[in-house]
Amino acid sequence: DTRHGTILYLEDVSVSFDGFRALNQLSLYIDAGELRCLIGPNGAGKTTLMDVITGKTRPDTGSVFFGQTIDLLKMDEAAIAEAGIGRKFQKPSVFEALTVFENLELALKANKSTWSSLLFRLNGEQRDLIGQTLETIGLTALAGKRAGILSHGQKQWLEIGMLLMQEPLVMLVDEPVAGMTHQEVERTAELLLSLQGKRSIVVVEHDMEFIRSIAHKVTVLHEGSVLTEGTMDEVQNDPRVIQVYLGD
Ligand code: ADP
Repeated sequence: DTRHGTILYLEDVSVSFDGFRALNQLSLYIDAGELRCLIGPNGAGKTTLMDVITGKTRPDTGSVFFGQTIDLLKMDEAAIAEAGIGRKFQKPSVFEALTVFENLELALKANKSTWSSLLFRLNGEQRDLIGQTLETIGLTALAGKRAGILSHGQKQWLEIGMLLMQEPLVMLVDEPVAGMTHQEVERTAELLLSLQGKRSIVVVEHDMEFIRSIAHKVTVLHEGSVLTEGTMDEVQNDPRVIQVYLGD
C-alpha cells in the first residue's frame, strides 16, 4: 500500500456554489506527522478545501477520510473537531481581557466538552500541560499578562497554543504569518517545525519565503484541483505554476 501512514484522505471531492465549481474532483493525501503547505492564487479553492475537511461545507461528491476508517462526511463539525482535526483561522480570536494562561486554560477546559468542567480547578497534570505549551509557544514570561497587550504575532502563537490544547492529530492553519514582522515570521517557522511529527499540519499561506523555510512538500491548487505537488523548488520552477500566478 503506497498510502501507508496517510492520516487524511480526500478523493475526487467536488463542491459547487450555484453551479460554480469551487472544488473540482480534488484529491489530496496528508501523511501522519507531515507539514504540508497549500498555495494557489485567490479563488483556487483553499478555503473551501479547509471547510470540507472541518465539516463546514459538504461536498457534492467524493470522499473524505480521517485515518483508514473514519468517514468525515458522516460527521458534523463538532464531532470532527473532537475526533482530532483542529483549525486556526487567519484572524486571531484570543480573549483579550483574560491572561495568556487563562486563555490556554479556557481552551483546555472547553475541550472537555462539558461547560461544567469550567467550574473545576486545574489539576497538576493540566497545569503542567499548559506550562509546557507556554514554553512551546514562547510565552512563558507573559503567562500572567492580559492577552490584549500581546503583539499581533504573540496573539497568533497564543492561538496556536489554544489549538494545541485540543490535542489535534491534524492542525489546519490559515495564513499564520499574515501581518507579522520578519522576526515573528521566522519564529513562527520554528514553532510549526517543532510541532510537526507528533501531529500533521496543513498550512495555507501566501508568503513564499516562509513556505520555503518550513515545507517539505507543497501542494498547488488551481481552479479547485491540485495543479501539482512537490518541493518548493519543484513547484516554483513549474511553468504551469508560473503561468497560474502571472495570470492571477
Ligand atoms: P481561496 O481560499 O483559494 O481564495 P476559496 O475556496 O475561498 O478560494 O474560493 C473558491 C471559489 O469559490 C471562489 O471563486 C469563490 O468566489 C467561490 N466561493 C467560495 N465560497 C463560496 C460561497 N459560499 N458561495 C459562493 N461562492 C463561493
